[in-house]
Amino acid sequence: MISPALAQFPALRPRRLRQTPALRSLVAETRLSADQLILPLFARPGRKVRREVAAMPGVFQLSPDTLLAEATKAHEAGVPGVLLFGIPDKKDAKASGAYAAKGIVQQTVRLLKKELPSLLVITDVCLCEYMEHGHCGLVHRDAKGARILNDPTLKLLAQTATSHAEAGADIIAPSDMMDGRVRAIRERLDSDGFTDTAIMSYAAKFASAFYGPFREAAESAPQFGDRRSYQMDAANGREALREVALDLQEGADIVMVKPALAYLDLIYRVKTEFGYPTAAYAVSGEYSMIKAAAAKGWIDERAVTMESLLAMRRAGADILITYSAKEAAGWLKVG
Ligand SMILES: [Zn+2]
Repeated sequence: MISPALAQFPALRPRRLRQTPALRSLVAETRLSADQLILPLFARPGRKVRREVAAMPGVFQLSPDTLLAEATKAHEAGVPGVLLFGIPDKKDAKASGAYAAKGIVQQTVRLLKKELPSLLVITDVCLCEYMEHGHCGLVHRDAKGARILNDPTLKLLAQTATSHAEAGADIIAPSDMMDGRVRAIRERLDSDGFTDTAIMSYAAKFASAFYGPFREAAESAPQFGDRRSYQMDAANGREALREVALDLQEGADIVMVKPALAYLDLIYRVKTEFGYPTAAYAVSGEYSMIKAAAAKGWIDERAVTMESLLAMRRAGADILITYSAKEAAGWLKVG
């Protein structure tokens, strides 16, 4: 790509194009735009609830009414969509709250689609927030210990997905990492008549320590063991590509890499290899680190947030899921 016939110093001086903001902007290879941002929101039952997550300043557990207000502000700032997580009143061993017709996510989706029809509503599909043990699938216990069951879990995930679609969700986002879930969800959506409901799969989701603060936000910490028997090992890049290939074969419309900043190589490889719409999820730990360092006055929150989002775009992400979506959209407007 770089030809030896090109000019060399002193004829070639890259600094010429860095002299003014206008010049730098003219030749910027990557741009950020508010319409690439998605804001994750946490819904819980009740009214007027606005409970801040201790490890994530500025992030709240919200009841449907306050969530609508938050989504409205973000949408007015230019954010096109939200990604919903639910925190039910009751948890059990079969995650009933995940697929209840009047579950917390289903109620919230209905309210958002009624009051803010132009807002894209994406729903996280998983069972962990609704399971008493906090795992993403059904658990089988015997003398050898506890195992997460793959195939019986698929039915519950598909049931959850179709209940979200019925409530009006535009995009279903399965995050459980069970094998075969995208196919199970696609088939169920299609057979229930939701052929136009898209799937954004958490295709390469790693068992990451960066999720720490989220578990408080979603009240979904596993009560025993960890999620390493289903989420990916941080060491594996080629396996991540196989996971993405599987989800695309099974019918995913958009694929996601999660977390984002520590996995930029995979965002790049996924986009380069497959060319599908690719999402990056800047997870809770990434957000909390920036917030904490900024609160200490050690870094500039706005500059570091925008540089991180730009890096995800440069790596190849089309969609940026970030807890800073509303602020970032505001900063982009101000310029
Ligand atoms: Zn889960």
